[in-house]
Amino acid sequence: MGSYAVITLPFTRAVYVHELRPGDVFTFPDAPTTPLAVTAVSRTDVSSELALLRISLPGIQLHLPANTQVRARHMLRTVTLPCLLCEQPEDIDLDLPQDGEPLSFVCGRHTPDPEAKP
Ligand SMILES: [Zn+2]
Repeated sequence: MGSYAVITLPFTRAVYVHELRPGDVFTFPDAPTTPLAVTAVSRTDVSSELALLRISLPGIQLHLPANTQVRARHMLRTVTLPCLLCEQPEDIDLDLPQDGEPLSFVCGRHTPDPEAKP
């Protein structure tokens, strides 16, 4: 089987803190050169309008409204996409800020395998 091909769009949008998960790295808009690594996230619903997130970083905890916008630097996600040609779904690991947001996908069954013997 050859390697799959993923068509992605540049990941340029802002990310809300409620999208963050342990392992993600983000920056605040006013401190773009200070990457912060998330070690844990927990959510408290204060009211129907307000949710607070406790973001644990090495040595510090931040309490932020869930709709606070940040910039993602590393955001590894497993995305399940159906193949454009045969519609077989497959799990793909993408680091969204680096690799882009997945748009469509062609699985390894349709690409030539460099190891294959004729
Ligand atoms: Zn396919």
